[in-house]
Amino acid sequence: MSVSNALFEPIEFRDPLRTRQRAVVKEVDQRAAWRNEMTEPFHLLTVDVEDWPQSTLNHSLPIGHRVVANTRALLELMNDANVYATFFVLGKVAEKHPTLACEIAAAGHELGTHGYSHESIEAIPKARFREELRRSVDLLRQQTGQPVIGHRAADFSISRHSLHLLECLSDEGIIYDSSIFPIYHPRYGIPGAPREPHLVRCMSKSMVVEFPPATLKLRRLAVPVAGGGYLRWFPYWVTKLALKKIQGEGSLATCYMHPYELDTAEREHLPYPVPFTLRWTQFANRRSVKSKLIRLLKEFRFITMEQACGLLACKLRVALDLGKQPIAYGNAT
Ligand SMILES: [Zn+2]
Repeated sequence: MSVSNALFEPIEFRDPLRTRQRAVVKEVDQRAAWRNEMTEPFHLLTVDVEDWPQSTLNHSLPIGHRVVANTRALLELMNDANVYATFFVLGKVAEKHPTLACEIAAAGHELGTHGYSHESIEAIPKARFREELRRSVDLLRQQTGQPVIGHRAADFSISRHSLHLLECLSDEGIIYDSSIFPIYHPRYGIPGAPREPHLVRCMSKSMVVEFPPATLKLRRLAVPVAGGGYLRWFPYWVTKLALKKIQGEGSLATCYMHPYELDTAEREHLPYPVPFTLRWTQFANRRSVKSKLIRLLKEFRFITMEQACGLLACKLRVALDLGKQPIAYGNAT
């Protein structure tokens, strides 16, 4: 049985809504009971665990210590709200702080990989992408003793030119991915890609579930609404309205954030000079994030991506077929 086929059979799933332990539950009856509970709309909360200077300022900088305190602060907020999320941990962070992934898993959350170095997939050769992916997956697996089935590329950097790399994810046992932003952006995105979760059929015939970050459609334009800088810049009512609108479309919102976005003191303690543009785009409005997040966690229901795969996979359509040329959205029939 291929790894991805497990999505379509009686699955093993983690049930943090019922227990603080990450016990793997096999009973199909329990899965059905859990499915029945999900009568109200749900969304996905994801966290990219990285250290701001290394991930954004300069990839050759060492991983600092603030990521640990910031991640713990986020875990506390989620614990208070009884919400469980999917954490994509950067390999370099896991290497520098080898107990952090275990802390996240022990708190009941789900772990995925955010790659190893945080260099854009567009900027590195395929062989290095594959090597870094394997290295990051192995690290998390060794540290936690759990399979790693989720992936998010650094800076959502899978573009229309690198879609073929999704095959590498399947080869490494990845079942779900959240790297394709269906927007126009100078650094990332595939405008026109599906806004809702969908399936990618690999050449091996395995499926990868793709969860695009949340967007709203304004006329013909998809606009990002629930993550990172967008969560920081927009007033809370915009985020709330966006999630309600996405619910109204019968879909779900994949929200994302970084632990450093809670760190209001980071800029004054940075030992590195920061260009003016980054100062504005990366540090503005961090003070607003905690209160917005608390409201978000209170007012909406969130589940993890693995849970969403169990609930949704058989309902999703195949939107991309890596076995067909040209590899492009819309080529699957
Ligand atoms: Zn990142």
